[in-house]
Amino acid sequence: MSLKFYNTLTRSLEEFKPIQEGRVGLYTCGPTVYNYAHIGNFRAYIFEDILRRTLKFCGYDVTQVMNLTDVDDKTIRDSREKGMGLDSFTSVYKKAFFDDIETLNIEKAEHYPEATKHIQGMIKIIESLIDKGVAYIGDDSSVYFSIEKFPSYGCLAHIDMSGQRAGARVKSDEYGKESVADFALWKHWVKEDGNVHWDSPWGRGRPGWHIECSAMSIALLGNHFDIHTGGIDNMFPHHEDEIAQSEASTGEKFVNYWLHCAHLIVNGEKMSKSLGNFYTLRDLIKEGYTGREIRWLIMSVHYRQHLNFTFDSLIGTRSVLKRIDAFFVRLKEKIKESEQGMDDAKRLVEGTEAAVRNGLEDDLNTSAALAAFFDFMKDVNRTMDADEVGGAAAELLLDFCRKIDAVFGALNVDKEEDIPADIIQMAEDRIQARTNRDFAKADKLRDEITARGWRVEDTAKGHRIVKA
Ligand code: AMP
Ligand code: ZN
Repeated sequence: MSLKFYNTLTRSLEEFKPIQEGRVGLYTCGPTVYNYAHIGNFRAYIFEDILRRTLKFCGYDVTQVMNLTDVDDKTIRDSREKGMGLDSFTSVYKKAFFDDIETLNIEKAEHYPEATKHIQGMIKIIESLIDKGVAYIGDDSSVYFSIEKFPSYGCLAHIDMSGQRAGARVKSDEYGKESVADFALWKHWVKEDGNVHWDSPWGRGRPGWHIECSAMSIALLGNHFDIHTGGIDNMFPHHEDEIAQSEASTGEKFVNYWLHCAHLIVNGEKMSKSLGNFYTLRDLIKEGYTGREIRWLIMSVHYRQHLNFTFDSLIGTRSVLKRIDAFFVRLKEKIKESEQGMDDAKRLVEGTEAAVRNGLEDDLNTSAALAAFFDFMKDVNRTMDADEVGGAAAELLLDFCRKIDAVFGALNVDKEEDIPADIIQMAEDRIQARTNRDFAKADKLRDEITARGWRVEDTAKGHRIVKA
């Protein structure tokens, strides 16, 4: 099979063909740093992480850019509400974002450009649009993109432009399809902007939201690149406007493949800051859930399907992950030196790898890829029950799991997952107490560990700690 993606531009599944052999330029719209990101946002970042890892798994050299929106209507509004400078306000959430992606084992992109560091690039694009007659200065001294001058406007969101009123304008960054209009590229300073402004040929002001992604993607990936992604709410107006500005300015095609993930929803509604129905990653970690559990829940549903978030489903991941952990522990215990089961293991690995790959290549069908892994686990457990897995076969099977975990990022073949440091210390103290024949202390430590929801099990190779 070959790699296929559902391209929002054409609303069809297409074979992926990179512009440059073996390389992929990938632009992923990043966080607006005015709050802690919620798990709906992280659905988008996890989908993009799976995309990135799949491309690498398929042998591509990936250059990923994820921008940080550190100036827009919301960052200005909230920094002023808190009485903080824009930079000190957004820097709190920039740092939180990087901590959070580490918790979720999201791989780092190659570039994280900040909008405030690319203002000159934005000004240059806007100047070129004015020169070409595609943008104009409005009577409020702001600069607007004239959508009637760009005949393919609406190509991404599939908007019928006949019957649209010419010359209507919209200044705010976010608006719905029913408000299709000339949009702001540069917003002339108003008093609500406080001290957030830059000089430009059109006077003091600040950029609109959409122009930043055109400027940063073109600066880091070139005028024409392979893949651009985001949540489906980014399709209009954000990505539609990006296409218009970029293509009108460069005269080249902007992006070949547009990929969008469906929303993470709660009680039938999109999880969002504005609706107030959101959980940040931190909320859930505080409640005792782990990054691995949240990652697993999110990636187990195909990115184009709605993901209905419930605590029951999050708790459900716990038993799945426990089974996986137990599977690896068991496989690692198959240490007897023998070649037993080698042929079966090779066959199984080959078949499973093909199934995992087929799933991922089919528009990142993670649920199919994970199903192939579960079948594999069942087969290996069965051969282990029959005591037919020798040491060499076990190593082969483990190596295969390490290989596919380059994409899943949550099997954790070699990691004792999320055991708190003090529990590990208590378990080690317990071993020491037993060596010292202080059994009362050893028992007390075991009880304390149990009371905290963990269990120490003694094995041939020492001890292991598992969730009780
Ligand atoms: P924002 O910080 O609002 O610019 O959003 C950052 C990313 O999260 C964008 O790609 C959004 O499309 C995405 N996003 C926001 N809410 C959700 C949601 N409930 N489900 C999936 N993706 C979302
Ligand atoms: Zn963007």
